[in-house]
Amino acid sequence: MNIQKVGFIGLGMMGAPMCARIAGAGHTLYVADADPARVEEICGKLSAAPLTEAAAKDLDVLTTMLPNSSIVESVLLDEGWADRLTPGALVIDMSSSEPVRSRELAETLAGRGLHYLDAPVSGGVKRAENGTLAILVGGEQAEMDAARPLLETMGQSILFIGPAGSGHAAKALNNLVSACGLMITVEALHVAKRFGIAEDVMTDVLNASSGRSNTSENKVKQFMLSGTFGSGFSLKLMDKDLSIAGKLAESVGYTLSFGAYGIDTWHRVAEGVSPTTDHTEMYRLLSEDAQ
Ligand code: NAD
Repeated sequence: MNIQKVGFIGLGMMGAPMCARIAGAGHTLYVADADPARVEEICGKLSAAPLTEAAAKDLDVLTTMLPNSSIVESVLLDEGWADRLTPGALVIDMSSSEPVRSRELAETLAGRGLHYLDAPVSGGVKRAENGTLAILVGGEQAEMDAARPLLETMGQSILFIGPAGSGHAAKALNNLVSACGLMITVEALHVAKRFGIAEDVMTDVLNASSGRSNTSENKVKQFMLSGTFGSGFSLKLMDKDLSIAGKLAESVGYTLSFGAYGIDTWHRVAEGVSPTTDHTEMYRLLSEDAQ
């Protein structure tokens, strides 16, 4: 399949820069979002047009970058975007969705003659802008091979994980590690401060030592100590990812121990925040929670 015409639904913090990469690579791009202002903004900025029923019929690929599985299913199945595609087209869900539901979605779409890949991403807004995301792909190898040039417009590491749902499973587990790592990093910073070690010094220690992580390298000084809390990934979306990881462990009969404590702690903090609270605010909120 030679992918030229691409539809993209979900123009949020991640979807918007990913669309810029796709349009920049010369694909014909059609976009949609529940918020008409976002469609207008993207069509004003990029070489892109609003996704219509007529445009959907000619798409090679329809991509979704939406908050969760329920919304992905509602957009594709209830709102009818899947029915508007021509059999043979490929649906790529790049949202961080639920692996078991993704497997079912793949089967439902196959019944309509459509191909499916789950291809969630890791790396955040900055790497979405640079086109250097990690993309974790689940589905058939042949579809992955066909989609690779499109995925390479957005990502640097394109990893084929396994059958449909595997990309979403791998993404949830990655975020379990990332969130638990973030919380222990934050706790170490608070303890260091009370002992009299400046937090930026402690961050340098971590970055030069074995406690180094994506949080210590790319989040602590940039978004936590600076007080900007502007990474572009909400605390509640991470909470959703942790619920997915918890359910995934349950579905394979594995009892989480450290992970369960991390998930519970994140849930407790997430209950009290707004949908737009950035996940890096955990630095401030975990400290209050501990008092
Ligand atoms: P976001 O909330 O910024 O954007 C979501 C977009 O979807 C919004 O523009 C919203 O209007 C639109 N939308 C919601 N419901 C819709 C519907 N029914 N129909 C059409 N559009 C609808 O979220 P985001 O941060 O871009 O995240 C999107 C997905 O990517 C999530 O699954 C998230 O977990 C994942 N993710 C986010 C990041 C990050 O750093 N922000 C990184 C990796 C993965």
